Amino acid sequence: MILPKSNRLTSEQLNEVTAIVTEFGCKIQPIVGAVRTIYAIVGDERDDLMINRLEGLEYVERIDRIQSPFKLMDKRSDLASHRITINGVTLGEELFVIAGNCTIDPKNPNYFYETAQAVKEAGATMIRGGVWKPRTNPYSFQGDVKSLDILLEGSRRTGLPVDTEVMEEAHIKLALDAGVTCLQIGARNALNYSLLRTIGRAVAERDVVVLLKRSIHMGPISEFISAGEYIAAFGNPNIILCPRGTSPTLDGYRNHPDESITPLLKEKTWAPVVVDPSHSVGKAVYVQAAALAAIAYGADGLCLEAHVSPSHGIGDDPKQALTPEVLAETIAQAKALWAIRRGVKVG
Ligand code: PEP
Ligand code: MN
Repeated sequence: MILPKSNRLTSEQLNEVTAIVTEFGCKIQPIVGAVRTIYAIVGDERDDLMINRLEGLEYVERIDRIQSPFKLMDKRSDLASHRITINGVTLGEELFVIAGNCTIDPKNPNYFYETAQAVKEAGATMIRGGVWKPRTNPYSFQGDVKSLDILLEGSRRTGLPVDTEVMEEAHIKLALDAGVTCLQIGARNALNYSLLRTIGRAVAERDVVVLLKRSIHMGPISEFISAGEYIAAFGNPNIILCPRGTSPTLDGYRNHPDESITPLLKEKTWAPVVVDPSHSVGKAVYVQAAALAAIAYGADGLCLEAHVSPSHGIGDDPKQALTPEVLAETIAQAKALWAIRRGVKVG
């Protein structure tokens, strides 16, 4: 990683460093932060001769050589000071909550609009709504592109930004063109390295965020962070890690709740952690406890499925969605717990 003395390199300086690293089979990827741009050396950056030549340039402050499988996502990376701000909420500074339908019902858009309003009133930061859905059964409802308009209409009516899952390049393009703020990579695709590269390329230099779910099949913590590195390597550091339960399941829950990995992630990466207890436990009645556990473990936020009338929902909503009342109570309790965690006296 090249850290320039000024906030960014001039085009002549960039050409010069590019020429040097190219000689050693590497490439330069600028990573544009709010204030300063840093330059990742993509490739094998261990060659001392290359490093010496770069360090010799008078406009280079220093070269950061982190020995890490995820040098951008690593907590020791210069990106550690990067902050993600969505709708005025800076992750890590205030509780961040995404809430809404698992799946938007294109035949009954009012459920989504009413949920969006309830989500806003409950104090969430962003609305979620599934447009395209990964389903185990090929005959189950797979989502409908018409729901993208409904999602954006929900955003317009409430003034809140929106999050939706994308599963292929065409979805990414449609969602970005429509103005979706947060693209979600689901648990089934978190190990799809080709899709991770595709989304990395698509979000580079755009003011959008990627919510990366933890795969059901991920083992070591580093596997999860490395998946984020695939996206960061293209130049957008707005990556949120989202534990959502893994396999094998804990008898009675949908998955094995994994909010407890939050401190382990935080030890290794600067990326914010937003836990999804809805898919983790898989039943509305258990969600509130798991949500509070996540905050106690140090999570920066929550991703919660909610619906104004869960029994009329589709996808996971009949089983997992919180009612507006329980959502509001969960957010209020999570905020109180957040304050306790921060050492603020409450009550
Ligand atoms: C979802 O968010 O509705 C979803 C399908 O999530 P996951 O990828 O975690 O299963
Ligand atoms: Mn769901």
